[in-house]
Amino acid sequence: MYLSNHTSGPPIGCRVKVPFGSRELIGVVSANLENTPLTETDLKSVIEVIDTQPIFTDPNLWTLLIKASHYYHHSLGDVLATALPNALIKGKPAKLEPQKTWQVTELGKTDYAMIPARAVRQRQAMQYFIEAANPVSSEELNIQDISASTLRSLANKGWINAQYLSETPAKVTVGQSLTLNDQQRTAVDAINDYQNCFKTLLIDGVTGSGKTEVYLQAIAKQIELGRQVLILIPEIGLTPQTVQRFEQRFANQVGVLHSGLTDGQRLTTWLKAREGILKIIIGTRSAIFTPMKTLGMIIVDEEHDLSFKQQDGLKYSSRDLAIMRGQLTNIPVILGSATPSLESLQNALNDRYKHLILTHRASGHPPPALTLLDCKNQPLIEGFSQPLLQAIERHLADQQQVLVFINRRGFAPILMCHKCGWIADCKRCDSYLTLHQGASHSYLQCHHCGHYQKHPDHCPKCHEKELISVGQGTERIEQFLAKRFPDYPIQRIDRDTTRRKQAMSQYIEAAKSGSTRLLVGTQMIAKGHHFPKVTLVAVLDIDGALFSSDFRAPERAAQLLIQVAGRAGRELTQGEVMIQTHHPDHPLLRSLTHLNYQQVAKTLLQERAASLLPPHTHMALIRAESHNKQQALDFLSAARERMSATNSQLELLGPVACAISRKAGRYRFQLLINATRRSELHPAISQILPDIENLPLASRVRWSLDIDPQDL
Ligand code: ADP
Ligand code: ZN
Ligand code: ZN
Repeated sequence: MYLSNHTSGPPIGCRVKVPFGSRELIGVVSANLENTPLTETDLKSVIEVIDTQPIFTDPNLWTLLIKASHYYHHSLGDVLATALPNALIKGKPAKLEPQKTWQVTELGKTDYAMIPARAVRQRQAMQYFIEAANPVSSEELNIQDISASTLRSLANKGWINAQYLSETPAKVTVGQSLTLNDQQRTAVDAINDYQNCFKTLLIDGVTGSGKTEVYLQAIAKQIELGRQVLILIPEIGLTPQTVQRFEQRFANQVGVLHSGLTDGQRLTTWLKAREGILKIIIGTRSAIFTPMKTLGMIIVDEEHDLSFKQQDGLKYSSRDLAIMRGQLTNIPVILGSATPSLESLQNALNDRYKHLILTHRASGHPPPALTLLDCKNQPLIEGFSQPLLQAIERHLADQQQVLVFINRRGFAPILMCHKCGWIADCKRCDSYLTLHQGASHSYLQCHHCGHYQKHPDHCPKCHEKELISVGQGTERIEQFLAKRFPDYPIQRIDRDTTRRKQAMSQYIEAAKSGSTRLLVGTQMIAKGHHFPKVTLVAVLDIDGALFSSDFRAPERAAQLLIQVAGRAGRELTQGEVMIQTHHPDHPLLRSLTHLNYQQVAKTLLQERAASLLPPHTHMALIRAESHNKQQALDFLSAARERMSATNSQLELLGPVACAISRKAGRYRFQLLINATRRSELHPAISQILPDIENLPLASRVRWSLDIDPQDL
């Protein structure tokens, strides 16, 4: 917290340059002198005031940052570091640079012929300027690879000159909206009922029920009223189609915030949102901190998605902050999902949220039919049972597409010695190494710490040459299916095949056009995609997801299954979903056969109530990691002791080892705090946190506090 050197110094929310030890850092003014508990001697002078007006012009957003800092028990500085675009943290001016464009001058046209042949770059650049139909933007310069120095020398010669564009995007033609069906109409009307007042609405609509169209029409209303809309989506790179649909409808009023932007691009979009120039902002998790001039509504699509929760640093939930921001701003917040989180569903069921249900697919097609394939005692070929292979063959022969889902990338999860049973494991983690079949050679990789090593040519224990791969990953499935169905083009979609920018869009285009007939992938293909010709979805192995120590595992398994099943039969014909399992009588699987998520979710909610777990209770988690096992454990034991001495209402569980008990060489433990009421949890943590910070071990182990943890 930095304070200004005069009482009438820069307003709260302005950036200032301040001394910090021997360095100079950028800080944000968070209080004035009159209200500080500090004495004169504790204060230092500001070196330079960077902003004349607060960077967050929206006072509600500033309040949100302060609330987030209290709620997550982090300093306001931590929250600001997460909320501010990098360019602002580095001290760049919070001002929109007028957009420069370049065009050729008359002199440039006549002098062009005289450019010497060896000045290749200048010649090429000038040719481009002469041939360009419109003034050339900086984006085009980038694409054409025209450097700043070339540009400068052309401008110095008077061959080109700069022009500034006005900020407001030109009026655009807007894409046509669809005619809503009754359920969609009811949802849009319900949303429109809440203008200028806070309400959370949950759109609980089956996959393909047209939730996106509901958002689009609710947004159109806001734009009409001169307001802006903020849309949070899980991962932009994975679902380029979603963004396209918003851009098609609202064209250049849409700004997209994603991880692929440069610092400068991010800042420009951020400032255009703040100035009200862009009407719609679509972004991932951190976009919740975007300042908006006239925010009228927030939408959180796929609200159940785990990516809305940051897993390190400030462990905030963007969805939960969206609701807080809606409340502070007095506007509606729309949560949408085919598989709502139990937290949101519970709120809808007890009428805190308005529950809007879409039960039918917008296409009018019936939901896919689901079959459980009992694999017990069945011969499996590379993980496939006979009936499943026959079904794949049938759908391919019928000119349809097939999607095979397995939530494990790589070739095989285990490499084992055939003679002595040795298994390749990670030296730094409590886990095995995954076998990958790279483009040129096969290798082993740890999926927890990234450790990489070449495929060994013999067993390190007994020197046996024959090493066997056990189990299946996406690579192996792809290889097998390509051999088994050689006439059908196949595409694997997982983290390894989508590293290249644009890869995902290309695969999706190929799948949509029908040129890819077989899709193999991880949960990446389960999310929000619209593949019109997929009629069979095959789930190879669901059992792993059914049996896990995390109490949320059944919820996650149900969500994943419903989402992946939702890729089947979205157009044309009824889809089919086949799930292989060794536990066909598992109650969760049995109840999922009707693909009725609500029914499953209600059962899960009852179980949570019976075992006093969220959303019926509220949790916080303290994690500790150390190379020294005992220190991590002792730190948490001491924390537990302090906690129980102060508050007897809280249920304390642990310290216990984390699910991955050692990662990158560090032992990991956790202490879980479970409270019946939030009003008990947060004050207790506030009270105890200074004590924990002062524990002698606190500076020796790596520890963190996670409010509403999602990953146990
Ligand atoms: P969801 O987001 O609920 O999964 P989508 O919005 O992707 O569903 O809609 C699924 C398909 O149905 C899309 O192809 C969409 O264009 C179409 N669709 C949505 N609403 C309508 C409607 N009212 N009339 C006709 N088609 C619609
Ligand atoms: Zn061996
Ligand atoms: Zn590892």
